Amino acid sequence: MFERQRRTKILATLGPATDPPGVLEDLFRAGVNVVRLNFSHGDPSGQAKRAADVRAAAQRVGVEVGILADLPGPKIRIERFAEGKVHLKAGDRFDLIASTNAGPGDATQVGVSYLGLPQDVTAGDVLLLDDGLMQLQVVEVQGERIINTVLNDGPLSDRKGLNKQGGGLSLGALTERDKELIGIVAKIGVDFIAVSFCRNAQDMNDAREIAESHGCYAALVSKIERTEAIENLEEIVDASDVVMVARGDLGVEIGDAELPGLQKKIIKASLAQNKVVITATQMLQSMVESPIPTRAEVLDVANSVIDGTDAVMLSAETAAGAYPVKAVEAMARICLGAERQFQTETDFGASPRNLERADQAIAMATMFLSQHVGVRAIVAMTESGGTARYLSRFRASAPVFAVTRHDGARRQMALMRDVFPINFDSRGFTPREAARGSIRLLVEGGMLQAGDRVVFTSGEHMETHGATNTLRLLEVGEDGRASGLGDL
Ligand code: ATP
Ligand code: MG
Ligand code: MG
Repeated sequence: MFERQRRTKILATLGPATDPPGVLEDLFRAGVNVVRLNFSHGDPSGQAKRAADVRAAAQRVGVEVGILADLPGPKIRIERFAEGKVHLKAGDRFDLIASTNAGPGDATQVGVSYLGLPQDVTAGDVLLLDDGLMQLQVVEVQGERIINTVLNDGPLSDRKGLNKQGGGLSLGALTERDKELIGIVAKIGVDFIAVSFCRNAQDMNDAREIAESHGCYAALVSKIERTEAIENLEEIVDASDVVMVARGDLGVEIGDAELPGLQKKIIKASLAQNKVVITATQMLQSMVESPIPTRAEVLDVANSVIDGTDAVMLSAETAAGAYPVKAVEAMARICLGAERQFQTETDFGASPRNLERADQAIAMATMFLSQHVGVRAIVAMTESGGTARYLSRFRASAPVFAVTRHDGARRQMALMRDVFPINFDSRGFTPREAARGSIRLLVEGGMLQAGDRVVFTSGEHMETHGATNTLRLLEVGEDGRASGLGDL
């Protein structure tokens, strides 16, 4: 039964490791709720094919899977190697060549697309590659060539990110390339668009305007990964639908010691503004090569769940790792275990809420009731998913079955903690008929049974956004039909 169903959602990055036939289905069965296509890697047509494969595989498995397109942003990256990958040794010389025709790299040098890099670094600077996994120290700059000493042993592969310790290399957000890609991902029909290195609300508003000009109403994700974004956190959260704690570049810019505190702060700020929040990067990093996670990684994922994140994300573990399915299985297992430790919210009076709308107020009342009457579930009729989002911001103990006929809304809700999207078409139904119909569906699906109490929320007028204004207490009868609850 659903009591044992995982509530925290899993986001998995797709890449070469997930392309072989059958892997997507295995990932979905293992529990992936949303996939991420990183447009920094591979070409757009390859990512479009992955998107089509995702839709087909999700249908075969019978699950709702959202698609997130991650825009490259202004991140500086090394170019490619002749062999795809090299191993560097501490103490060796390794040059970066800021030129458009550096040619394929090897164990002594590689190209960098950002031509201004030689002007931005000086001898002694530490350059961090691949979210800090590989470190170089600048020895000397000779024209377009930056001569470095390798600081640690390790692998380095194509198109890894590059940054200067302490930050200062990242340029403006939303590049011309990003703007072009928004048009492309709009056509692909993605459910989420992530803006990399956003600095302020304006960056998010610009992205939204461009997306809407292409008729695209994907949820917008702000990636919090630079110092400026922390300074402007409140306004960025306000301008976003979803917020991502992008720990890779954030750790490089701000220093790893600040990460735990910032993660908690960003999660809290997102929930307070009724936004969905993702925790990302290096969550199970060792599983790129190992079939089991380290204890530290287990604790990290669990702590994110306890911090209140909606979703946890896998990057190279699934995109380029040796054990993509095992990584998802580990994630699912750890989330489930952590949820048992999580203190669900019970004191709704104490939680500060910015109640601006009737549906938010109904959500709050629903959660209060669900806690005090002891219901099995909340069943919410929703058009855009807004009601489900307000309900799930409370982190209460009852699951939320969010009922809508809109495919896009269900896929966006796939990212929300505690929410289980349900496909049901209530057009032409009265609210009472819609309640009966959706509850019958849940009984048939084994998610509810006779004797279960539910709180049911809906609008007076079906088919209208933001119109949720009623809640009822119902009980599932022996015949599987819902009826009004008399005695408590
Ligand atoms: P970002 O800063 O946007 O997270 P990243 O380089 O860290 O960029 P991730 O999406 O986090 O990229 O994935 C981690 C690694 O997985 C990448 O560095 C790359 O090696 C590999 N990868 C991801 N997607 C692809 C892809 N579509 N094709 C090839 N390799 C990929
Ligand atoms: Mg990126
Ligand atoms: Mg990454």
